[in-house]
Amino acid sequence: MSDTIRRTGSCLCGGVHFVVSGQPSRIGLCHCKDCRKAGGSVYSAFAIWPRAAFETSGVVATYGTRSFCPTCGSRVAWVTDDEAEVMLGSLDVAPTDLAPEYELWISRRETWLHALPGTEQFEHDRPQAQDADLPPPRPLSDAIPRN
Ligand SMILES: [Zn+2]
Ligand SMILES: [Zn+2]
Repeated sequence: MSDTIRRTGSCLCGGVHFVVSGQPSRIGLCHCKDCRKAGGSVYSAFAIWPRAAFETSGVVATYGTRSFCPTCGSRVAWVTDDEAEVMLGSLDVAPTDLAPEYELWISRRETWLHALPGTEQFEHDRPQAQDADLPPPRPLSDAIPRN
């Protein structure tokens, strides 16, 4: 397993540490209300790993599936039975070598932010793969802010 990349992360105060192994399943940006409120910033940048690739140590508090450090308040992960969503800013090395592939809730994107070139643009949440009837992602050319 020595050839498997391992990335470490932590909260601001260092009370919570985590490790993610291997490459993430996907990397995105989200402008939704929950991400804005939870992080206090105008969007969140995250990467998602299979749950089994995520290990954490230290005490975390949770709100729903979101976990955060009870001492310093840093968001550390959003963990479900299948996946762990890690905030890119909580990883220890900056800049990371991880680049977003898609953007969610672009209708809530600040007007001074531009669509990230080369990413899929979604009006709301990312359609689930099994929902074949959902419309395709909006082409990037339609997503450029008009000004
Ligand atoms: Zn902390
Ligand atoms: Zn969101």
